[in-house]
Amino acid sequence: MQICTNCGTENLDGVVFCEKCGVALVAVSIGTKQLGGESPMAAGGERLDEENIILLHIHGEQDPLAIQVTDRVILGRTGGETDNAPLINLDEHDAENHGVSRRHAMLTREGDRLYISDLGSTNHTYLNGNQLQEHDNLVLRDGDELTLGHMRMKVFYK
Ligand SMILES: [Zn+2]
Repeated sequence: MQICTNCGTENLDGVVFCEKCGVALVAVSIGTKQLGGESPMAAGGERLDEENIILLHIHGEQDPLAIQVTDRVILGRTGGETDNAPLINLDEHDAENHGVSRRHAMLTREGDRLYISDLGSTNHTYLNGNQLQEHDNLVLRDGDELTLGHMRMKVFYK
C-alpha cells in the first residue's frame, strides 16, 4: 500500500499516480527535453498525450510536481478541499508566503486539452504574465509560465 503524500489516499502498490488526486506517488522520469532548457517564450504544444501527465516546475525547486489530470484538480492550500475536485496542496512549497489562496486555480482537462481558470483568488492567477479574469478558462500549453499569487511555475507536458 502506498499513501499519497498529497491527499492521504491509500493506493495499491504499483500505481504510479494517485487515483484520487493524480499526484505522482513515485519519482517520475521526465526525459531530457525540457528541464534546464529555459526557453524565453511559451511555445509548446497544446495537446496532451493519452496519459494526461503534466509537470509543474516551481521556480527555485529542484524536482517538478508530476500530476496526472484525469478530470480536474484545484491548485491551492490546506482547507481548499472540495467534493467537486481533488486538491493539489501546495503548502509544502511555501504557498502561503507566496500569496496562494486555499482554492486558487483549477486545471480542467477536456479531451487532450488542458485549461486553467482562476477561482476568485486573492492575489490572482497569471498565464505568461497576463492576469486571468473572472470567467477566463484558458488553454494551458506545454512550456507556459503559470503564476499563482507570487508563486511562479513552468508547465510541461510529459
Ligand atoms: Zn492523492
